[in-house]
Amino acid sequence: MALLNTNGILQEINQTALSFIDAKRETLVGSFFWEIPWATRSKKIQAQLKSVVSKAIEGELARCEVEVQRYDGQLTMLNFLFTPISNAQGEIAWILAEGRDLEQQLSYLSLYDQLTELPNRHLFMEYLEKAMERAKENENYHLAVLLIDLDRFRVINGSLGHDIGDWLLMEIGKRLQSCLDEKNILARSGGDEFIILLDDIADFAEATHLAETINEVLGRPFSMIGYDIVILCSIGIVYYIGQEEGAQLLRDADAAMYRAKQKGKSGYAVFHRRMRRELVSRLQMETDLLQAAEQQNFVLVYQPQIDLISKQVVAMEALIRFRHPQKGLISPDDLFIQALEDTGIIIPIGEWVLQTACRHLRACWNAGLLIKRISVNLSAHQFRHKNLIKKIITFLESSNLVPQCLELEITESLLLEEAESAINTLRNLKEIGFRVTIDDFGTGYVSLNYLRRFPADALKIDNSFIKGLISSPEDIAITMAIIDMAHALGLAVIAEGVETTEQMAFLREQTCDFAQGYLYATPMEDRAFIEWCKQYSQNP
Ligand code: C2E
Ligand code: MG
Ligand code: MG
Repeated sequence: MALLNTNGILQEINQTALSFIDAKRETLVGSFFWEIPWATRSKKIQAQLKSVVSKAIEGELARCEVEVQRYDGQLTMLNFLFTPISNAQGEIAWILAEGRDLEQQLSYLSLYDQLTELPNRHLFMEYLEKAMERAKENENYHLAVLLIDLDRFRVINGSLGHDIGDWLLMEIGKRLQSCLDEKNILARSGGDEFIILLDDIADFAEATHLAETINEVLGRPFSMIGYDIVILCSIGIVYYIGQEEGAQLLRDADAAMYRAKQKGKSGYAVFHRRMRRELVSRLQMETDLLQAAEQQNFVLVYQPQIDLISKQVVAMEALIRFRHPQKGLISPDDLFIQALEDTGIIIPIGEWVLQTACRHLRACWNAGLLIKRISVNLSAHQFRHKNLIKKIITFLESSNLVPQCLELEITESLLLEEAESAINTLRNLKEIGFRVTIDDFGTGYVSLNYLRRFPADALKIDNSFIKGLISSPEDIAITMAIIDMAHALGLAVIAEGVETTEQMAFLREQTCDFAQGYLYATPMEDRAFIEWCKQYSQNP
């Protein structure tokens, strides 16, 4: 590390740098930085260094890579960073020169991600803290951090294999790098998360602009052994507005990314102070749920499934709600299910759902309804739980039901994440006689071949496709393809989220078997459901 004045003359140099080039301090101080002995080997290098230092003198954060001679005579690449430093009057007074030995640096595995060779979170924090120092000193110095989280990367990893997952991450790293100029830092901060430091930007709009570019660049398919993989990502943006610490900045970026995820796939969100409160509400949600579990504040609601030909109610789906003391009945978004899983209460609650659902079917029969079965959603956690099957059987028996009455819904993504073990559990369930439905079908990457090996009974077309029926040719094509494929494989098809008669008519025409949605009824509590069914059966 060395300090230069605004003429590029060396003022100070530290011991590490001196030993690296095996020189004495006195011989160097006072000379132009680009003329100190190790660099004078070539006029070209001198000129390069001089021009980079001049940029820094003009106030830019400047970098370059230069080959220099080490203490032992070996040539080695140094990565130089020149940082302008202002005095109290805000004028640039010094340039801080830092050299990093690239080779040595790469051997610092603790600072680099081995797969993508990008800086890791640790090294990123170092850069970030330094940039924040500069920004603290100079109010015209703007910084932004972008946190990029790939959507459903786990699903891709699970379905296409880890080798392809690794390859994809490397390619993604390269594409991200291609969106940046050299003064910006790109790092991989963990599994499917990348972070970018936009250093010394003129305008915060550069950050949102970059986010749009990234969404577009990653959205172009990655081609690999016959797959065209499209990556969607959610981006959180935070501007440096005087945050005290780098860690705080990253937390804020995370909160913004979380917001982007909630808004839907492939978007970005800019951090706002109120999002800090949302982080708090995430924690609050966990506490509320734990309390609700203790006080048994969960409720099941039921939504009918209609046979599109006979128009009869053939089945119903049990959906969980949480009775919040102030906010009333709360539907399970990802946050809710995630919080249930994170706190572990999904296991007892899941059991409660199964048991309550069995009792409700029994109650429907007692009320004279002719409903064949009830379906229950299972989360990944429950699915992994060893006692699952045993528990289900006791619940069925205590309500005097047979396994054929119970339909278990698992999401396509769960199947992909769990792969082989999931297939085994499914086989066991099927052998006993339970029905198995793949929920949210079409949103994952299940291939035809994969599907053939799944012992499922039905597919549920994700409501995002149903929404586009009639208006979107793509959604129409996908829906038709799913129905044909399912039938060819001997699976029944359920459409969820049916809201209009047009959608219903289209689905019936396409020989879809069952429909569920607000067109018929919203999910209802137990008594209301039974009343609704009685009414409906008089005029289906
Ligand atoms: P899902 O299983 O795909 O459930 C369908 C969701 O679509 C339900 O949301 C339902 O209320 C909603 N829906 C029904 N008809 C329509 C319609 O016509 N239009 C629209 N836009 N939406 C409709 P809900 O109840 O909020 O549940 C959300 C998700 O939470 C469920 O998605 C399911 O994955 C999960 N979930 C619900 N209950 C449980 C449970 O007991 N255990 C587990 N593990 N997950 C559950
Ligand atoms: Mg479902
Ligand atoms: Mg669904």
